[in-house]
Amino acid sequence: MSQLRKDPFGPTWVVFSTEIGLETSDFSSVSRNSDSSILAPGNEIFLNKEIFALRPNNSKINQPNWTIRVIENPDSLLETKELKIYKKQMFSYASNSGYQEIIIEHPNPKMALEDMPLEHLVEVLKVYRDRIEKLSKKPGIRHIQLTRNVGKEAGSRYDHPHAQVLAVGVRNRWLSEEMTAAKSHYEKYHSCLFCDVLETELLAKERVISSNEHFIALSPYAAKTPFETWILPKRHDSNFSSIKSTSLKALASLLKDIIRAINGSLNHPPYNLMLHTLPIKDENRYHWHIELLPRLTKKSGFDWSSGFYVNPMPPEDATKILKEALALQGVGL
Ligand SMILES: [Zn+2]
Repeated sequence: MSQLRKDPFGPTWVVFSTEIGLETSDFSSVSRNSDSSILAPGNEIFLNKEIFALRPNNSKINQPNWTIRVIENPDSLLETKELKIYKKQMFSYASNSGYQEIIIEHPNPKMALEDMPLEHLVEVLKVYRDRIEKLSKKPGIRHIQLTRNVGKEAGSRYDHPHAQVLAVGVRNRWLSEEMTAAKSHYEKYHSCLFCDVLETELLAKERVISSNEHFIALSPYAAKTPFETWILPKRHDSNFSSIKSTSLKALASLLKDIIRAINGSLNHPPYNLMLHTLPIKDENRYHWHIELLPRLTKKSGFDWSSGFYVNPMPPEDATKILKEALALQGVGL
């Protein structure tokens, strides 16, 4: 039975249409067969210079022997110069100002995020936090985006485990929509939209996939794509860079569990992981979170023409499937 659901975090409507069906045989899988990678140790001289690396004291910058490394994105479209916005008659344009970095998360090209030792993943998350904090402090930065693209269908250029960070002086559409919804909710109820949705979801339980002391993983009420999964901090926090080191282990653990559950249920689909956070520390109307989007369906003509998303998988069903996969891994709610 079809149902239209309004996204509480934006102006979008999602059409849930189980009649379309979802054939797992239609999905593609991510494979990591190659040992060679331009991002691997030994290729430092072919890449942009190192911005940061975790490496032993006796090793040298731009040389191998690192465990996590940050470089300027070789495909960067932006330049580190002051942002200038111009208006000409009816049109606006801006200089290509901003920062694009790549965080190489492990020396081994075949090491998937979910297989990294927990302590290593905690260090990766610390690098995420520190790069976001550093870039937030650059003059004029209004939007910071951290993304992991896994698999070519998810837009990844490298098989090697990595994240991309983008810092620009203009706002991003998705974040702006969420901010508008959050601000309007705050003006009406004097509370955080995300915190209120979390409270409702924890009571209802039907879309909660897993949770621990600090974080919750759920299928959003108006999931735009099948198996869309969000991970949110239980305590209100608008900025990822203010996350405490003591919470990082809980986040790393939940992230590993959820990606394993998605891989176990859907045979390693390509996916995008997007961190939605604010760069400004004093804004408290927002609530940072991670959105995981497995790439299982393509946008149809109906989606483009109507402006709706069409999702053949109700989030309650996706939750059940992912919970079963977690149970197989020995992870309870
Ligand atoms: Zn909140």
